[in-house]
Amino acid sequence: MGGRLDHDRYRDWRLDVDNMSYEQLLELGEKIGNVSTGLREDQIRRCVKKTKLPMKEMIQWKCTICQEEHEEKDEIGKLKCGHLYHMYCIKQWLGQKKTCPICKTAVESQQ
Ligand SMILES: [Zn+2]
Ligand SMILES: [Zn+2]
Repeated sequence: MGGRLDHDRYRDWRLDVDNMSYEQLLELGEKIGNVSTGLREDQIRRCVKKTKLPMKEMIQWKCTICQEEHEEKDEIGKLKCGHLYHMYCIKQWLGQKKTCPICKTAVESQQ
């Protein structure tokens, strides 16, 4: 017997997720394939501005993500490129991707 305890053997490769940078996490996510590649909740909040649909657009406006029309109770989120979506749609979208669904502008670099 070598006298080494099992938990020592695993110490080196155990992942220290708390101390990893976002880039490292992304890299890890690509390797594992199940970590979201979108924005974090706080980043989404910074990128999407709550707004109201202009009156003249309200009639014919459609959310590009869900293809639904605007309803009075819906919250509208505006990206810095100026495109408007349902707040809940764009939040979901940005949790998966980092670009505007319409113009494909990277949302993060717009800050
Ligand atoms: Zn929508
Ligand atoms: Zn856009």
